[in-house]
Parts: sequence; structure tokens; C-alpha cells
Amino acid sequence: MTKEQANPLNERSSSIDPVCGMTVGADSDYVVEECHKRIFFCSSHCKDKYFAIAPKDIDPICGMRVPSSSPYTLEEDGRVLRFCSVDCRAVYQERRRK
Ligand SMILES: [Zn+2]
Ligand SMILES: [Zn+2]
Repeated sequence: MTKEQANPLNERSSSIDPVCGMTVGADSDYVVEECHKRIFFCSSHCKDKYFAIAPKDIDPICGMRVPSSSPYTLEEDGRVLRFCSVDCRAVYQERRRK
């Protein structure tokens, strides 16, 4: 039983739908390119919802729009930062530590 290599740059096989949090395969038809990053959605419904998001909720790491329902939040100086994924939140926390 070997664990898969934890390489954050090697996540092409699947992606997280930022709207509903579902894991979406990289072959999804519902894909948007933003900030040099491909964002995959499980359905056109989630894709539409993503574009309905007010651009104030921007992931400070990757520049993606983040829905207010995102569970990946971080409270800092009385305001709430939102992230598209647990990975971006971890990167942010890592940078703050330095
Ligand atoms: Zn979805
Ligand atoms: Zn992000």
C-alpha cells in the first residue's frame, strides 16, 4: 500500500468544481479558462452560477472568483477571506507564516 505522491502541480486528472465542491474530471465539457488556470464544472448550471458571483470574492492566491458558499475560508483581521480550494488556503497560510 503506497500512498500517491503528493505533488500539487500534478493534479491534471481531476479538479474541484468551485461552485458545488464536486470532483470533476479533466475531460469535463464545462470548462472555463481564467487567470491562466482552467476551471472545471460539473454542469452548465454550476458554470452559470460561477459567472453570477460578485467579483469581490476573489481568491487571493489564484485570482479565481469564489462563491460565498465556499467552505474554504480564513478569518484575518476581522474579515473573511475565501479560497477556491483547500490548496490555495494552505498556500496563503504558508506565505503568512514567513
Ligand atoms: Zn457543480
Ligand atoms: Zn484558488
